[in-house]
Amino acid sequence: MIMTQVTLEHIRAARERIAGKVERTPTVLSQSLSDELGAQVHLKLEHRQTTGSFKLRGASNAIASLSAEQKARGVVAASTGNHGRALAHAAKLEGMRAVICMSRLVPGNKLEEIRRLGAEVRIVGDSQDDAQQEVDRLVAQEGLVMLPPFDHPDIIAGQGTLGLEMIEQVPDAALVLVQLSGGGLASGVASAIKAVSPRTKVIGVSMARGAAMKASLDAGHPVLVEELPTLADSLGGGIGLDNRLTFAMCRDLLDDVILLSEDEIAAGIRHAYAREREIIEGAGAVGIAALLAGKITTNGPVVVLLSGRNIDMDAHRKIVCGEARSERAA
Ligand SMILES: *Cc1c(COP(=O)(O)O)cnc(C)c1O
Repeated sequence: MIMTQVTLEHIRAARERIAGKVERTPTVLSQSLSDELGAQVHLKLEHRQTTGSFKLRGASNAIASLSAEQKARGVVAASTGNHGRALAHAAKLEGMRAVICMSRLVPGNKLEEIRRLGAEVRIVGDSQDDAQQEVDRLVAQEGLVMLPPFDHPDIIAGQGTLGLEMIEQVPDAALVLVQLSGGGLASGVASAIKAVSPRTKVIGVSMARGAAMKASLDAGHPVLVEELPTLADSLGGGIGLDNRLTFAMCRDLLDDVILLSEDEIAAGIRHAYAREREIIEGAGAVGIAALLAGKITTNGPVVVLLSGRNIDMDAHRKIVCGEARSERAA
């Protein structure tokens, strides 16, 4: 049978499989954002997850689901940084080989962390698609097992455990804001939330610069979008023209998609730091940014996911001091 959707059952099984390997992160009320919106705003502090992003949930579930023979071969993935770091961490715990292929757009701090965890790093080309070609070569020539960053049932089910936690922590949520790139996160979270609380809306948030899923949803099928430098570097990359799961799940489960400018994302990072006292990377801050930009209306409590904190600290300092919107973005 070809799996077309990752269901609540898969997500609950993932939660059991990764128990003890990932943190259950807290959700806290934000007074400043609640005042801003005129409704309760809760922040899910997933940037405090081990490895600094939610990606450890999917990576841990995918690795725990491998056979002994697959574990012996080792894993390979293309990554904008956080998936690679999560996979390197999960593979290390199992004593497995991990090879992470990245483009030159991946920030240096993310690369160093992956090396520190003992994974092999290959830098190839200027896009996620270039990095993926190296992955395909390693699968064919060295027999490594590919664990892609989003379009894989075990990855989606792992990310979905975040949705279960959010709706348990805020059962009366009217709206949940999640980051949207390849859509593994949004598919998993929306699947969990819609199953437990069908009336809760789930909205995806992306940067306007190179929003591949949004362009694909508008076109009605996966399309190629030029990958551009952005403050939300973890949201870069395409969804794959041969996308199997996340395009259809996002199309069926998301209530809307919101796009943000680089200035709006910078304002989100600044607010997180100055008002919430949290260090958040660009991708992690897009939910806060959408609220601040006045792009959200709601009739009840909102849960905003802070998805990662792996930002270069020099870049962060410049953003919070208002010195630069983005060093690379025009
Ligand atoms: C990967 C990532 C996302 C986007 O997840 P997708 O499953 O690709 O949509 C959002 N935020 C952070 C911090 C990430 O690392």
